[in-house]
Amino acid sequence: MPTSAELHQRRSAAVARGVSSMIPSYVSSAGGGTMTDVDGREWIDFAAGIAVTSVGNSAPAVVSAVQEQVEKFTHTCFMIAPYEQYVAVCEELAALTPGTFEKRSALFNSGAEAVENAVKIARHATGRQAVVVFDHAYHGRTNLTMALTAKVMPYKQGFGPFAGEIYRVPMSYPFRDGGLDGATAAAQAIGLIEKQVGAADLAAVLIEPIQGEGGFVVPAPGFLAELAAWTKSTGAVFIADEIQTGFCRTGAWFASFDEGIEPDLITTAKGIAGGLPLAGVTGRAEIMDAVHPGGLGGTYGGNPVACAAALATIGMMRELDLAAAARRIDSLARPRLEALAAKHPVIGEVRGRGAMLALELVKPGESGPFGPAPDPAAASAVAKAAHEAGLLLLTCGTWSNVIRLLPPLIIDDDELDRGLSLLEQAFL
Ligand code: PMP
Repeated sequence: MPTSAELHQRRSAAVARGVSSMIPSYVSSAGGGTMTDVDGREWIDFAAGIAVTSVGNSAPAVVSAVQEQVEKFTHTCFMIAPYEQYVAVCEELAALTPGTFEKRSALFNSGAEAVENAVKIARHATGRQAVVVFDHAYHGRTNLTMALTAKVMPYKQGFGPFAGEIYRVPMSYPFRDGGLDGATAAAQAIGLIEKQVGAADLAAVLIEPIQGEGGFVVPAPGFLAELAAWTKSTGAVFIADEIQTGFCRTGAWFASFDEGIEPDLITTAKGIAGGLPLAGVTGRAEIMDAVHPGGLGGTYGGNPVACAAALATIGMMRELDLAAAARRIDSLARPRLEALAAKHPVIGEVRGRGAMLALELVKPGESGPFGPAPDPAAASAVAKAAHEAGLLLLTCGTWSNVIRLLPPLIIDDDELDRGLSLLEQAFL
């Protein structure tokens, strides 16, 4: 087997520079909460492929479902010749997402594609064009989703022109907005939408219930509920992007449950299929079915192998109660993160929910126009020290100053403990 160094040389000559990797090591295998590279080094995995492998990597139930399906057929295109697995995933999505109203789903390949389609559906159903998104939002890298995403570097720089009719308003971000309560933060956002967009032209309000790439920003309680209620009152579509928060990550099937909201549409991807590419848009039947036959689709969307993986993944989540596992990770990790914050003033805030936890790093005692001065250098130093010590750890945030924990939900207590110890040591 070639070494990582050899593979890196080959990569430099073959792979575009724009596609970068966090570590220079090449994977040979990955299991529950660990990953091994071609040189035999092992990492505790607090990344889960960016919140994807919640049931673990190569989970046996997913592997056998995939193997069985591959032997039956790999692809027919659901738009040509349909199959049960697609229908079954849509049935699961209807059952698992918030709201007992009648629902429909459509399946796609990636999160960005799901978000694009949610916007298409909302515009079609309302006959309106304006879409409201939030500061720090991340919704993908395709042309429309770049416009929806807030951060310029590395996602948008030089890639314009961007899609039109997208409007951005402030997010409830208690650590940085002076601790505004949810109702006040929502009133501010709504006031801006009314004055700068106009409720009559509003097709959709699109928001991550807890922002992912933007820094694991947890809005103040009530913010989402106020926003959802107001959106509904205008006749626009309230879309929750649960691509990162969904499928048990935050300790419930979907983060919307914690907020007591029933979004009109929900986008899903990542954790849904144990690592195979699959995404969905699920929502109110009358909104979803507003689109004419043939108006939604794509060659691979809802591929049968990915659907088989999703059904096995959802089965595992149900059987092992991985929502409870996420809450357990929270209860084990949070006290250690809080103890760490008490020791290191560079940690300005510990936040998150379930197995989606974060540390926001700041320069102690310094503040600027956006509140406590962000410390991206400290975040990258901690992540680098962790990688070298054997812990896969991601950063995020508008200022790249947030350390985020996204372990697989099936991580065992020993792996979690070792990972947290490595994180603690990375701060020394
Ligand atoms: N929305 C959210 C909330 C995400 O976290 C992501 C991925 N980080 C996306 C959309 C885009 O998903 P994908 O990378 O599968 O296109």
